[in-house]
Amino acid sequence: MRGKRNAGQGFHHKHSLGQNFIEDEALLGQLAELSLVTAQDCVLEIGPGFGALTRPLAARAARVLSLEIDETLLPILRVTLERCPNAHVVQGDVMRTDLAALVQAELGDGAPLRVAANLPYYITTDVLLKLLRELPQALSYAVMVQKEVGDKLLSGPGDEGYGPLPILCQYACEVRRALDVPAACFTPPPKVDSSFMVLERRQTPLFAPQDEALFLRLVRAAFSMRRKTLLNNLTAGLSLSREQAAQAIEEAGLRSGARAEELSIHELCLLSDRVHALRAHA
Ligand code: SAM
Repeated sequence: MRGKRNAGQGFHHKHSLGQNFIEDEALLGQLAELSLVTAQDCVLEIGPGFGALTRPLAARAARVLSLEIDETLLPILRVTLERCPNAHVVQGDVMRTDLAALVQAELGDGAPLRVAANLPYYITTDVLLKLLRELPQALSYAVMVQKEVGDKLLSGPGDEGYGPLPILCQYACEVRRALDVPAACFTPPPKVDSSFMVLERRQTPLFAPQDEALFLRLVRAAFSMRRKTLLNNLTAGLSLSREQAAQAIEEAGLRSGARAEELSIHELCLLSDRVHALRAHA
């Protein structure tokens, strides 16, 4: 126990790597509980730090695989995770790692997969989109994010922050705020409060566009230039003629001057189906 407590002594937290650690064991246990992990599950954790969340996750899961960029944490993790034989740490940058291949190689594809992380905030959006894309088989993604990112994940048409991130998350998952966590719970405390968000993957997506890949591209294209109308963004982003884009917008029952931030996920799905139909008949 003493070894575990002293393991991180002298460690200098790197602000550039979003190293705001949690030490409160009760809070860490609560986060592991909220991560929905059961004894049948394998867990991918991004950024174990000192292994504080890894331990309660390992106590609940079949296996935990933790991906950590900072190699100076590896000798510390060897000590703190000494008593967790079902936890394994891999060194690497989540943004440069093929997560599907990593999970396949380290965890196989037999057991249900869940993701849990106190995420480094400088890459939250990119990591979330990467997780959705590369690990669609995960049952859930439980992530600590800045509180305002939590608001964004729950936002709808017309709300501040509404855009590809909440749309792609809500399309694929049921999203809820499981817990608000004040900045003071972290060492060192970040400048903002946080929320622990749980995204449970839907068995079937919220809507069923005829061509999902086109729908995902359309969402990105529609929001690509915030000041431009949907018409301009679709023309540029999907290589449509202006006439084709206008026709798709009209056939989807939308205003010609509509902006992407006004549209519900359902309307974006209808629009994608109209573009799909136009292309099929071209
Ligand atoms: N899980 C620990 C906790 O809750 O106390 C630490 C969480 S801390 C907010 C984020 C962790 O992510 C740090 O350990 C940091 O080194 C790691 N990290 C930062 N960037 C990363 C990256 N690109 N790939 C993998 N891990 C990264």
